[in-house]
Amino acid sequence: HLFSRLPLHHHGQPHSPPCFIDAATGASLSRADLRRLVSSLAHGFRRAHHIRAGDVVLLVLPNSIAFPVAFLAVLAAGGVATTMNPSSSRAEIAGRLRDTSPSLILASSDNAAKLPPSAAPVLVVPDTFPATEDEYAPFRALLDSSGAGAGKTDEFPSAEVGQDSDAAFLYSSGTSGRSKGVVLTHRNLISMVELFVRFEASQYAPPACDNVYLAALPMFHVYGLSLFAVGLLSLGTPVVVMRRFDVGEALRAIHRFKVTHLPLVPPIMAALLRAKSAGAALSLESLVQVSSGAAPLGGKLVQDFLQAFPHVDFIQGYGMTESTAVGTRGFNTSKHKKHASVGLLAPNMHAKILDVETGFCLPPGSCGELWLHGPAIMKGYLNDEDTGARSDGWLQTGDLAYFDSYGYIYIVGRLKDTIKYKGFQIAPADLEAVLVQHPEIVDVAVTSAEDEEAGEIPVAFVVRKSGSTLTCVQVMEYVAKQVSPYKKVRKVIFVEAIPKSAAGKVLRRLLKDSLHLDAA
Ligand code: ATP
Ligand code: MG
Repeated sequence: HLFSRLPLHHHGQPHSPPCFIDAATGASLSRADLRRLVSSLAHGFRRAHHIRAGDVVLLVLPNSIAFPVAFLAVLAAGGVATTMNPSSSRAEIAGRLRDTSPSLILASSDNAAKLPPSAAPVLVVPDTFPATEDEYAPFRALLDSSGAGAGKTDEFPSAEVGQDSDAAFLYSSGTSGRSKGVVLTHRNLISMVELFVRFEASQYAPPACDNVYLAALPMFHVYGLSLFAVGLLSLGTPVVVMRRFDVGEALRAIHRFKVTHLPLVPPIMAALLRAKSAGAALSLESLVQVSSGAAPLGGKLVQDFLQAFPHVDFIQGYGMTESTAVGTRGFNTSKHKKHASVGLLAPNMHAKILDVETGFCLPPGSCGELWLHGPAIMKGYLNDEDTGARSDGWLQTGDLAYFDSYGYIYIVGRLKDTIKYKGFQIAPADLEAVLVQHPEIVDVAVTSAEDEEAGEIPVAFVVRKSGSTLTCVQVMEYVAKQVSPYKKVRKVIFVEAIPKSAAGKVLRRLLKDSLHLDAA
């Protein structure tokens, strides 16, 4: 059971820092408060909502201190927590209800209004503690209840779950198709906690509880959830929670709460950089480390970022929903100047690179598909979808990658995104890296378009600097000068913005669909 590995029962030193701080109000939650709230809520779920081992509870919540409380309470009650983007549409929510058949729904008030009338019982969860409005009375009643009997409110209920019980159904980002429900067990989450305790804690000179993390990333996605609601809790590291990312508020929070660590995705790095160049005056001296993950990161962005924030250690990591966000850790990449690498393999993970055509294992330096094996790998997909991704306990990541001779991993792109031009393979990332170097190009995404003669051709969607008069031909010539002839960009489309998901991923699917619309 996950809770046996989270040191929630240590009430900490008398002056130990809070677990969570609300970035907007400054309200905080101590470890003892967290334990009490999680325990009361878990007892309430069991008593008032009859949640038992294996029952699913859907969370449709924005980031707040209540998010980790709710998530942990579902697990403490023996239930399975499933999360979704709080800005989902009614139709998306209805689809998720069909997919996961929850016994209870925890929703923010705006999301509660989007639920169909026949949905499971709903508990409206307040965005901030303490909540006073009547709307939250049922939630407050659960928190105030002493279901465990007098004096025992901070004991967790004894739920019939073990390490192989399901703990969470988390959804992949839907970058390459429909989001897939990933079944993670208590063992998966525990393996992540063990990694944090063993690996992270040893990395920093000051104790982990002297660090302060800013939760600017959404907690419904595996990256934010595993880090903020589970991993950092195991280290006693305080987390400042933002409702959603906003560059001005993030800068103020870093300044106000002396944030030391900032986990990000590439578009947020770009936003911080723009704010800095626009003359944002707040001191960010407290920042020690910025890390990026979840999506490819252009070399130019890293260079510009390090120039703007020279005192910051920068690392990049790689993981997937299917691997409980565990994969690599961009250990010391700043020191070793390996910014393009996603770092070294996590110590509890095995990896192999297989030739895409032959399936043979490839040596360092050769690019092929990355396969992962370890205790963080999911139990499977929900409703047995897409089971082909696993074989003998190995997870087929769908990512093209290679190791260098020191063991650093480089992600080249997704296998599905590879453009097949007349039998040649082209990784969109190679062309994107060239394009973003152009001084008048702000953002870019490359995808394929069907072509009768060549099979597929590379198409570049380009966002120009405002006022730029750059033409399609100029863009194509710029690339042609720098790549082998088969890799040339064959079509350029100027757009206002590149569509990206909440986790910062380029939604190539939407771009491809727009090509079909164009053709029609
Ligand atoms: P779906 O599986 O639904 O198509 P997704 O793969 O984007 O969506 P996630 O599980 O959120 O869903 O993301 C994992 C993927 O993100 C990895 O397989 C990889 O392609 C990409 N990724 C993660 N970290 C990095 C990184 N540092 N650099 C490049 N790509 C990354
Ligand atoms: Mg995926």
